[in-house]
Amino acid sequence: MDSLLETHFKKAYKHIIESHNIYIASHVQPDGDNIGSMLSLGMALKKLNKNVYFLKSDDIPSDYLFLPNIDLIKDYSIFDEIELFIALDSSDEGRLGKNKDFLTKAKLIINIDHHVSNTNFGHINIVDKDASSTGELIYDFIKYMNISIDEDIATCLYTALSSDTGSFMYDNTSAKTHEIAAELIRVGIDKGKININLYQNKSLERTKLFIKTMDNLELYFDNKVALAKISQEMLEDCNAKMEDSEGIISYIRDIAPVEIAILLKEFNESEIKVSMRSKRYIDVAKICSVFGGGGHIRAAGCTINDTLDRARTLIIKEIKGLLGD
Ligand code: AMP
Ligand code: MN
Ligand code: MN
Repeated sequence: MDSLLETHFKKAYKHIIESHNIYIASHVQPDGDNIGSMLSLGMALKKLNKNVYFLKSDDIPSDYLFLPNIDLIKDYSIFDEIELFIALDSSDEGRLGKNKDFLTKAKLIINIDHHVSNTNFGHINIVDKDASSTGELIYDFIKYMNISIDEDIATCLYTALSSDTGSFMYDNTSAKTHEIAAELIRVGIDKGKININLYQNKSLERTKLFIKTMDNLELYFDNKVALAKISQEMLEDCNAKMEDSEGIISYIRDIAPVEIAILLKEFNESEIKVSMRSKRYIDVAKICSVFGGGGHIRAAGCTINDTLDRARTLIIKEIKGLLGD
């Protein structure tokens, strides 16, 4: 293990040992990495007899409701000082949504993340951009703390790793990612059940939304850029929710000539959430940072406070300069 990382683990562990009440939070619009990381770390800390509070940032997408102890992720009102606050998979304080307010009550903040754009907002920052997922860092940390990984913890870690690597396919998947996955399988997880829940469980509404979105796909710059939009009207037509858009972006990137895939999600008429993916060489975190967002080189996002059409124009203009067309 990286010696700098180990130094951070040592400090973080010391604070965990000294704390009784530990609050764990992650980013808004939760994903498999963030939920899996929260649950696995929290369950491990419970084995150290800690009171663990799993702070909910947003509704949990139905794909993840099968995870053990998912009901422990709840809304809390906190009035007292927080002994220890652990932020996971969140590149900056704003990503914590409503739980950001609790940071000011926290005596100590541990920030565990793998985003290249992390702002190091914690007192202790365990940030490694080369980790496939926050789950991978949580695995290392649980090992460091010498806490045994049972089937429930392994299920959550596997979900975290699999979600952020596109089931062990994306560039961020390393030999180590596979080694961890192998160990989790040896613990005895039901890999088939996890995979069915994560990848083979699409509702009909979600499928309709997928068809409608792909039917309106726009292609630019010799088909190197593909852009799709999801409006509130489309959601209504399909009886779908915005979380049903999960997965569409990677499908767009799968198209042979596409280097940059863009999905514009209309949350309201002046709030567009942008998801961006690249395949080989474009740094989409850099593009998104122009709009105040960030993420990873091959997967990033930002929010544009404008209409869907204006957001599209702004982004295409930004990319045009970048591709030199
Ligand atoms: P998404 O497209 O929402 O799956 O996000 C892709 C990646 O970009 C994730 O790693 C997110 O953490 C990051 N990301 C998404 N939206 C933002 C944002 N507004 N600011 C910073 N990072 C973001
Ligand atoms: Mn995430
Ligand atoms: Mn992640």
